[in-house]
Amino acid sequence: RPLFSGKAAFVTGGSRGIGAAIVRRLAEDGAAVAFSYASNDAAARDLVASIEAAGGRALALRVDSADADALRSAIDQAAGAFGRLDILVNNAGVLKLGAVDQISLDDFDLTLNINVRAVFVAIQAALRHMGEGGRIVNIGSTNAERMPFAGGGVYAMSKSALTGLVQGFARDLGPRGITINNVQPGPVDTDMNPADGPMASTMHSFMAVPRHGRGTEIAGMVAYLAGPEAGFVTGASLNIDGGFAA
Ligand code: NDP
Repeated sequence: RPLFSGKAAFVTGGSRGIGAAIVRRLAEDGAAVAFSYASNDAAARDLVASIEAAGGRALALRVDSADADALRSAIDQAAGAFGRLDILVNNAGVLKLGAVDQISLDDFDLTLNINVRAVFVAIQAALRHMGEGGRIVNIGSTNAERMPFAGGGVYAMSKSALTGLVQGFARDLGPRGITINNVQPGPVDTDMNPADGPMASTMHSFMAVPRHGRGTEIAGMVAYLAGPEAGFVTGASLNIDGGFAA
């Protein structure tokens, strides 16, 4: 019997990159998976089709994480369609780079809206459907702990905000049998951070394992945290970064 059979998950930003790898993994392990995305209809449609072709259940919802009402409705819709919600993965994120006196207030606001505010909104919405055994996993970043190059201050701030968020909310949710944790990847080969991009060799120079990670590697840690074995892990921020922060 697959690990997540009979369970339902919601993944934000699931159409591409790390989010798509998480959607695939949870679906392979038997979960019904809903995911949101911003604009890439074709990528979302293809992912749903490939999961359905393999006998799984998936639902794609186009919703901008900046829109709190729309995000709440999407989570309600997914929980309604599947009849339950067991797992929330807050993966959608943006990367805006710029030195302190160059980055705009718009980029600062966008970063906080998607990387922090939407995480809070989705958690509150998901909790209305989640019971004992519920699992919340946020995709943070190793940059919460180490930001070794210029121009990444706003992004690093947004990811380190999640450290305090899971520490505090773990205390609220422990008595309800719900865990909440951050997975903090290092460089992972996606459209956001291609393994052949201009920054790649600089990033590898900071790492013990000098390569980009794969979305499937991140999805493996998410699947562990979302599973029944991980009930004793909460309030944690776990690096999966090739030693970037070591
Ligand atoms: P990508 O840019 O490759 O993919 C982003 C995904 O999020 C897409 O599915 C996109 O949808 C969706 N998305 C973007 N903005 C929004 C929004 N406003 N509302 C809803 N969905 C949105 O990113 P990655 O896979 O690289 O990153 C995923 C997460 O992992 C992020 O939180 C990122 O900060 C984090 N991370 C990534 C690292 C890396 O090296 N790649 C390292 C450490 C952390 P659409 O297809 O419609 O555009």
